[in-house]
Amino acid sequence: MEPKEADLVIENVGQLLTMEGPGVGLEEGATVSCAGGRILEVSPSAGDAAGGKTVKLDARGGLVTPGLVDPHTHPVFAGQRSVEFGLKAAGKTYLEIHKAGGGIMSTVRATRAASTEKLERTCARNLDALLAWGVTTCEGKSGYALETEGELRLLEVLNTVGARHAVDVVPTFLGAHTLPPDVDRDEYVAQVMEEMIPRVAQRGLARYCDAYCEDGAFTPDETDRIFTAARAAGLGVRLHAEQFTDQGGAELAARHGAASADHLEAVSPAGIEALAASDTTAVLLPGAALTCRCPWPPARDLLDAGTRVALGTDLNPGSSYTSSLPLMMSLACMQMQVSCEEAWRAVTCEAARCLGLDDVGRVTPGCKADLVIFDAPDYRYVPYQ
Ligand SMILES: [Zn+2]
Repeated sequence: MEPKEADLVIENVGQLLTMEGPGVGLEEGATVSCAGGRILEVSPSAGDAAGGKTVKLDARGGLVTPGLVDPHTHPVFAGQRSVEFGLKAAGKTYLEIHKAGGGIMSTVRATRAASTEKLERTCARNLDALLAWGVTTCEGKSGYALETEGELRLLEVLNTVGARHAVDVVPTFLGAHTLPPDVDRDEYVAQVMEEMIPRVAQRGLARYCDAYCEDGAFTPDETDRIFTAARAAGLGVRLHAEQFTDQGGAELAARHGAASADHLEAVSPAGIEALAASDTTAVLLPGAALTCRCPWPPARDLLDAGTRVALGTDLNPGSSYTSSLPLMMSLACMQMQVSCEEAWRAVTCEAARCLGLDDVGRVTPGCKADLVIFDAPDYRYVPYQ
């Protein structure tokens, strides 16, 4: 193959995190050359791939990292829940608000009533906010319509907005987010399995199927059947597991070869063991633990057991209205005994891996040239500030 000429060269890099090897792949003073939106070369000093048409970008001694990858977001919704935040501040719990008919159903009502244009605008604004914190790829879930046509519409919004936005979106179908009121439980589960999943898969609207396995949402048995249907339709699976109570969701996720088991605030030692023995990544969401006043997920136990760990914002209008993945890194480092190196991996290569992506989350030839230049003298500066 002809040696390619770089069309973009990033020079004067202070620290570079390639995320190659077991740590962060720290290099100092490197030059990153890109061509056609892909990384061409990482050279230890000034590169020689530049030609006459090459754009040179001066990193001014800053920190260069892969674009961050957020593996868990709910960016398509309408309305907002600041009143509920006030109730939480006054001491009400998530489950109390949920059982009183508030919480997620208020978002479902607003989302069902919103125009597609409005949903696209909100979704794009949420992606803008993620991008402002360095995110270039995110997973995004449906789950605020809870009926077939509405769920398909939310997935269409994720696909449409993701295709034209700088942030790439991996869409996940979350029809099993919660049970809509006044709908027969068995009928709804059957609708998810027999109507929604086949149509989502047939139209290629999502890569994954997610479910919320929790007291007040879906039982482990229902989740098991939904996952079986999703996998038969060719979708990957990921699970909201053990957020408030231990349902054996981690074990269930591992058994189904799930890409991820997310939340895990209440995971049991047996659940940790099952995840460690599997290929399922633990996606931890410190923003939700903070807002719901849950114990911090046991990141240290998971890491020490050998489980792969990623971190997400869980961006959603109820339990974690944040777009700051660096803040999640700070919380993980300061509250969950996660090292700075582990936190960096959790928002880059590990997050990419659990989304089935092998060309983002690292700075290596062939990967997408999704890069962030931080005005920071050291990689620890990002979770630090
Ligand atoms: Zn979630």
